[in-house]
Amino acid sequence: MLRTAGQAAKENGAEKIRIITLSVGIYSGIVPEYVENCFREISGGTAAEGAKLVFNVLPARIRCRKCGGESQIDTDTFRCPLCGADDFQMIQGREFYIESLEAE
Ligand SMILES: [Zn+2]
Repeated sequence: MLRTAGQAAKENGAEKIRIITLSVGIYSGIVPEYVENCFREISGGTAAEGAKLVFNVLPARIRCRKCGGESQIDTDTFRCPLCGADDFQMIQGREFYIESLEAE
């Protein structure tokens, strides 16, 4: 993750990264505090040292196999809100990627 950030900074000719925005799916298993701690440890001496991490949490979205509808679901309901079926594909909620970098 950090390597990607460093690379992107180099390509943009940036000296220092100020803000890193990360998109984290609600079911990605990513714990922001943990990422933050790891980041502090490994970013020392790199262009990303001291950068602020912003976590953009993505809600879960499903595509129902029964009615074909796409909906956002909350963490308690694992059913299609449109027809009540529990046969669906998760189309958002497990991702973890760098959304944007703000450099000086
Ligand atoms: Zn449905």
